[in-house]
Amino acid sequence: MLDERPCPLCRGAGETLVASERTCHSCGGTGRDRRSSTDDPRFGADTCQACHGYGVETSREFQLCPSCNGRGSIPG
Ligand SMILES: [Zn+2]
Ligand SMILES: [Zn+2]
Repeated sequence: MLDERPCPLCRGAGETLVASERTCHSCGGTGRDRRSSTDDPRFGADTCQACHGYGVETSREFQLCPSCNGRGSIPG
């Protein structure tokens, strides 16, 4: 008989927090603010403040754990 032990990846939760990137809604992926409110060159007047010029937003969301397929435990 196989013992089950808590999945080390999700710690038994069955889901895991993963980072996902998506195109910045504020600048449309360009990394530049179309409606810049500052002309201060020290900060880069056109840099999108939402994504800091990367053009992508990073968000974290739960997904089904790939290690245990959401069961929360794996065979020992
Ligand atoms: Zn942006
Ligand atoms: Zn897991």
